[in-house]
Amino acid sequence: MKTVAINGYGTIGKRVADAVAAQDDMKVVGVSKTRPNYEARTAVEEKGYPLYIGIPEREQMFKDAGIEIAGTVEEMIQEADVVVDCTPGSIGPQNLEMYKKAGVKAIYQGGEDHELTGLSFNAISNYDDSYGADYTRVVSCNTTGLTRTLSTIDPIADIKKVRAVMVRRGSDPSEIKKGPINAIVPNPPKVPSHHGPDVKTVMKGIDVTTMALLVPTTLMHQHNIMVEINNDVETEEIIEALEKRSRVIVVSAEEGLGSTAELMEYAKELGRNRNDLYEIPVWRESINVVGNELFYMQAVHQESDVIPENIDAIRALLEMESDNEKSIAKTNKAMGIF
Ligand code: NAD
Repeated sequence: MKTVAINGYGTIGKRVADAVAAQDDMKVVGVSKTRPNYEARTAVEEKGYPLYIGIPEREQMFKDAGIEIAGTVEEMIQEADVVVDCTPGSIGPQNLEMYKKAGVKAIYQGGEDHELTGLSFNAISNYDDSYGADYTRVVSCNTTGLTRTLSTIDPIADIKKVRAVMVRRGSDPSEIKKGPINAIVPNPPKVPSHHGPDVKTVMKGIDVTTMALLVPTTLMHQHNIMVEINNDVETEEIIEALEKRSRVIVVSAEEGLGSTAELMEYAKELGRNRNDLYEIPVWRESINVVGNELFYMQAVHQESDVIPENIDAIRALLEMESDNEKSIAKTNKAMGIF
């Protein structure tokens, strides 16, 4: 049984913790918080995770709040075979020295630059690159979404180049200080956005350029993708490939899933933990091959699509499973992912 510590118990960290706890070959040895808020309390009192503190000087704050702590983050990582760093962008790099000193492997998230680890991860496209490595980075929610579908399409269509416009959610549902509330914001305003280069960190050699904007919604991101292809393929072949690929689902507007709101309602129908939709939904009606171009539209549940990727990244780093599809199947089964 491999031991996993989760440093940073926010949107991503709390989901990674539950996903680790759902596996039979790894367990949570601790999670960390910097403030004694409701997440810290539920981590201890509802989930039973040992709670460690990210800022040791705040011990008294946790004591005053009556939240039991097991120690500091430095102590937590001593217990672990691997730490999944789910702290906000900017904090991660400061932690790398601590992980190196403790001799613990680490997985970072998409808010960090690829250069921090020199290695980025997606279970479908480049699992082997991180096999046995000390540090890797699970690419961002948007990059994971693009990579999952593009790496499914490439083997049959032979992608020449990709152009994509990403409509991004303004904030996560629980964030009250972010926006926009009433605007469409080119974000980043420069073209290309960072998403295309990020895809190239896990799909070597692909020609992909992206543009992105923020809109006033919290539910999901949405992508509009145009792909120039070398092979002569039919629309139906693309649909079939996407249907066969796990962690991708082909959904239909005609069946009532024509928006991100309805997709989130579907996740509730499925009875998923936290109503998460780990799969990338692609709209059947949007998939269309016209001459040497393929068009499609998809959505990304930003809070959850990267979670199963973190589990596979743990198996890759710790050499627990050499075959990526076996790890993917194991993770999917434990989490009820299609
Ligand atoms: P978050 O703000 O929800 O959670 C971060 C957590 O880290 C908080 O619990 C915070 O208290 C804790 N923290 C802050 N400083 C710390 C420190 N010094 N030591 C220990 N813990 C500390 O952030 P998030 O949305 O979960 O994002 C985490 C990472 O995941 C980022 O790299 C982000 O870019 C990436 N990511 C986020 C999303 C998303 O939609 N939220 C999707 C994919 C990837």
